[in-house]
Amino acid sequence: MVEIRAVSGYEKVGRNMTALRVGDKVIIFDMGIDLENYIKLVGEDDISKISVKQLRSAGAIPDDSFLEDWKDMVKAIVITHAHLDHIGAVPFLASKYNAPIIATPYTIEVLKKIIKENHFKVKNEFKVLSPNSHIVIDGVRIEFINATHSTPQTVMISVKTPQGYVVYANDYKLDHYPVLGRKTNIKRLREMGDEGVLALIVDSTRAAESRKTPSETVARDMLRDVLLGVDHRGKLIVITTFSSHLARLKSIVHFSKLLNRKLVFLGRSLFKYCTAGDDINISKFSNEAKMIGYGNKIKRFLEKFPEHERGNYIFVMTGHQGEPNSVLSKIAYGKIKFHFNEGDAVIFSCRVIPTETNIENRKRLEEKLLSQNVRLFKDIHVSGHACKEDDRDLINALRPKFIIPSHGSKDMRSALKKLAVEMRYSENRIIMMNNHTGVKLD
Ligand SMILES: [Zn+2]
Repeated sequence: MVEIRAVSGYEKVGRNMTALRVGDKVIIFDMGIDLENYIKLVGEDDISKISVKQLRSAGAIPDDSFLEDWKDMVKAIVITHAHLDHIGAVPFLASKYNAPIIATPYTIEVLKKIIKENHFKVKNEFKVLSPNSHIVIDGVRIEFINATHSTPQTVMISVKTPQGYVVYANDYKLDHYPVLGRKTNIKRLREMGDEGVLALIVDSTRAAESRKTPSETVARDMLRDVLLGVDHRGKLIVITTFSSHLARLKSIVHFSKLLNRKLVFLGRSLFKYCTAGDDINISKFSNEAKMIGYGNKIKRFLEKFPEHERGNYIFVMTGHQGEPNSVLSKIAYGKIKFHFNEGDAVIFSCRVIPTETNIENRKRLEEKLLSQNVRLFKDIHVSGHACKEDDRDLINALRPKFIIPSHGSKDMRSALKKLAVEMRYSENRIIMMNNHTGVKLD
């Protein structure tokens, strides 16, 4: 008997957690936070003063009370990648399960840094599993299939069951020309398709968009265009992007060398995600950029920065969503005594994640920056999520018996359902789940 329970992440983007039961063994996929709810609750407070109960009732972490009757059967907590909506709740929820946490080297490294930084206590064993390899836990075969996304070493998880594979594909895109790491292992997905796939739980975030998600090389070209194709002589260049997007940061390193500009990374999360990459030897940012992670040092560096050097530097800093505590916001709002000159460039290598808070924060930040006469370059970015035509290729590779749209609002999941119908899936083979619903498959 195979049963799947949607714990969280099936009503809006964020706070992902799903459980799979095969016989008397349960595997948990992902344990993420809802970043917006988390920040609203925690704010500037000390996280150690906030209880799991408070986090749960604020909607910041998944409500895993739904798994109470399965608790003692959990054999593994398996994490797909290092984004907070997939790993962020591990410090709060994992310890109640007597099971190891299994993830790729990069994800484990980031998780360890988060735990250390916040003095969390997680008693579970960490098991490192590389992309494109497998592990057998208590007789259950768990495999990591390399996938492309917007942070390194993202994987799809496949679990072998007597009725076929169950594949969990949150998050992914099909990038055939990745800038960092390998492309999605389509060959293995097709092999599994030949062997028989019972169910595919799949990222629906961008399923409504009739296109293929562009490769990261397209974002690299967009960066080339605004960095090399614009006259920035004598002006400072500031770039802000997702701190966990090491491929994007790698492109920035490349162009800073072509421009013969020195590179400085400013901000705590940049420091964390980049040093995690360096520590497992998939990047070497510490050799290529000056990295300043913490508040006072950042302040000191910027406040003493010599005026005549502006044209020789690129600063990469936190603040792409207009977060009030980011380095870019602190400069814009005058909390750090560093000013922009007319014609300095601020490049947003990201898109606004459309939550009310982000939209408002970004609007205010942009207005503030424009009032200081900087040149703004927005949306120098491609997404890390599959669009409709990537989803079609994934479904064609796996040919699953059942499709379970996940990772998104009802509209997003309905778009994936529509695609499945288009691909001649009958209604009873497309399973629409809400949080705290379960389905038995056979
Ligand atoms: Zn992600």
